[in-house]
Amino acid sequence: MSKPKVLQLAGKVAIVTGGASGIGEAAARLFASRGATVVIADVQDALGERVAASIVSSAGAGRCSYARCDVSNEAQVAATVSSTVSAHGHLDIMLSNAGVLLHPAQPVTDMDLGLLDRVLAVNLRGAAACLKHAARAMVSGGRPGSIVCTASVASVQGGYGPATYTASKHAVLGLVRAAAGELGRHGVRVNCVSPGGVATPLSCGVTGMGPKEMEAMAEAHNVLKGKVLRVQDVAEAALFLASDESGFVSGHNLVVDGAATAVNPAVLRSVGL
Ligand code: NAD
Repeated sequence: MSKPKVLQLAGKVAIVTGGASGIGEAAARLFASRGATVVIADVQDALGERVAASIVSSAGAGRCSYARCDVSNEAQVAATVSSTVSAHGHLDIMLSNAGVLLHPAQPVTDMDLGLLDRVLAVNLRGAAACLKHAARAMVSGGRPGSIVCTASVASVQGGYGPATYTASKHAVLGLVRAAAGELGRHGVRVNCVSPGGVATPLSCGVTGMGPKEMEAMAEAHNVLKGKVLRVQDVAEAALFLASDESGFVSGHNLVVDGAATAVNPAVLRSVGL
């Protein structure tokens, strides 16, 4: 019997920002397990080094290293892309995933614009810097690469987080769509992966809940029953967008939310469905 086909990234070089934790860590592990050489770019040095070392020691995984990179600092992003290309010859995949959801969640009438600047500095400016420098490396290297930005269900609907976060994620989607249009002529694809709520240090930190508690709350509210969204599910969606199997997918926002943003559950219930 032939082996089932699994998505492969053999020979590809990937940068995963925010790869020390949560969704980024799961993606770094998955990409490496499918043969990619992965550079984890993060600001949590000890954790990032530990995750990279544990990926290297996993049987069958590709190469992995850690690079300190604050994505809100363009020079650090440029240096990370440049050192990756110097070390590994090229760049095929940028998973721009680093993100923050900063406290406190304020009503818009009390919005702290300084806090808005800090959220945008990481979530939007960081994604823009990653996209810009990854695209430059891909275009100048003459290789059709894949850029994936982790947005959120907050990229398409309000109410999933404070206005600062929602605005930043809507902007990421705009950035991705604009870039997909411009970079298509070079064969570079640009997409978003947009998770619903998933238990990570970010979401648990904001809600004050432990992972189990968060998952129980999600289960109660989910449209899709019988499954809880986990970081691995988001990593699998990012893998699809990063791989050659999604070769004609660009400018897309792949929501991973079990239909949460596709329907209004209150209306569904009101019509008895
Ligand atoms: P997480 O906190 O586990 O991981 C985020 C990582 O980003 C951390 O390792 C952190 O150190 C890193 N980071 C933060 N600021 C950085 C900076 N300036 N430069 C480099 N790295 C930085 O959280 P997560 O939930 O895995 O978040 C990953 C992405 O997923 C974020 O963009 C987040 O907005 C998005 N997201 C999360 C959820 C959720 O429910 N957890 C839902 C939708 C979208």
